[in-house]
Amino acid sequence: MRPIEYVAAKTVQEAVKSLAEKGDAARPLAGGTDIIVQLRGGRRQLDRLVDMKAIPELNELTYNASSGLRIGAAVPCYRVYGDAAVASAYPGLIDAASLIGGIQIQGRGSIGGNLCNAAPSGDTIPALIAHSAVAEIAGPGGNREVPVEDFCTAPGRTVLQSGEILVAIRVPAPAAHFGACYIRFIPRNEMDIAVVGVGASMVLDGNKVTACRIALASVAPIPVYATAAGAALVGKEATEENINAASEAAQAAATPISDMRGTAEYRTHLIGVLTRRALQSAIQRAKEA
Ligand SMILES: Cc1cc2nc3c(=O)[nH]c(=O)nc-3n(C[C@H](O)[C@H](O)[C@H](O)COP(=O)(O)OP(=O)(O)OC[C@H]3O[C@@H](n4cnc5c(N)ncnc54)[C@H](O)[C@@H]3O)c2cc1C
Repeated sequence: MRPIEYVAAKTVQEAVKSLAEKGDAARPLAGGTDIIVQLRGGRRQLDRLVDMKAIPELNELTYNASSGLRIGAAVPCYRVYGDAAVASAYPGLIDAASLIGGIQIQGRGSIGGNLCNAAPSGDTIPALIAHSAVAEIAGPGGNREVPVEDFCTAPGRTVLQSGEILVAIRVPAPAAHFGACYIRFIPRNEMDIAVVGVGASMVLDGNKVTACRIALASVAPIPVYATAAGAALVGKEATEENINAASEAAQAAATPISDMRGTAEYRTHLIGVLTRRALQSAIQRAKEA
């Protein structure tokens, strides 16, 4: 591992300037649970790491029942699921944040880092999409916002341009009778990446679905927002038959590969099973909300 300059930025502007000076040879550092592993393994070469953890704005976690949730990009997972009001309002996101790695990883690793790492298997990304989250970005050209479903562009790549950082993730306040769930399959209990992950959210009016979003992990080069699968349920009763139809639409939205964790056929089968389970759980939670 070659020497890497470490810069602890105190403000968003300082971080942006420090990153822009080095272009592709610099990257932000949040919890370091992805980037340090990648650097040590020689999968990345950098001249500079710019630490985000001393920037106050990136460490703020704010929740208001009418304006929603704002998660600073460096806030570690444990702070998100450790907040009782947040945990009850954003169940799908909490499912994902509380299964990343183990307790040590959750104490360091951030949802912002999970999103910016842009792994197809990133567990919080389908959950964020299901919750209609938006990425707040700052850079040399000013600020902009991107819906999370448009944030990842390729494995390990995002819409972030040179010098741009993720400042926060904003998640709208859930509507009445909203429920969500994230569920994944891994071959062991923890410390592995998803063979398939499914995030689903739902708004119910009685037993009728008035909104539904479904997103998938580990079944394409980027997390998949399966719009047709969600749309298949909207305006319909939350019945087994309609859930099955949405699950089939989710299978059709995926382009899985075969690798050491499973074949494409196996992944397609899992998408069907996990989408049904995620929808059933989201429905149950929406009924209880
Ligand atoms: C043992 C182990 C188990 C794991 N288990 C899981 C798992 O179950 N599920 C899962 O999804 N992941 C898992 N991971 C991966 C990792 O822990 C998560 O992706 C974590 O959320 C990353 O957050 P971080 O704060 O550590 O990010 P970092 O490693 O600090 O950063 C990750 C990437 O995001 C960039 N970045 C960070 N902050 C910003 C910012 N503000 N703006 C722009 N770019 C930024 C960095 O430059 C880097 O490229 C695991 C890792 C380990 C080591």
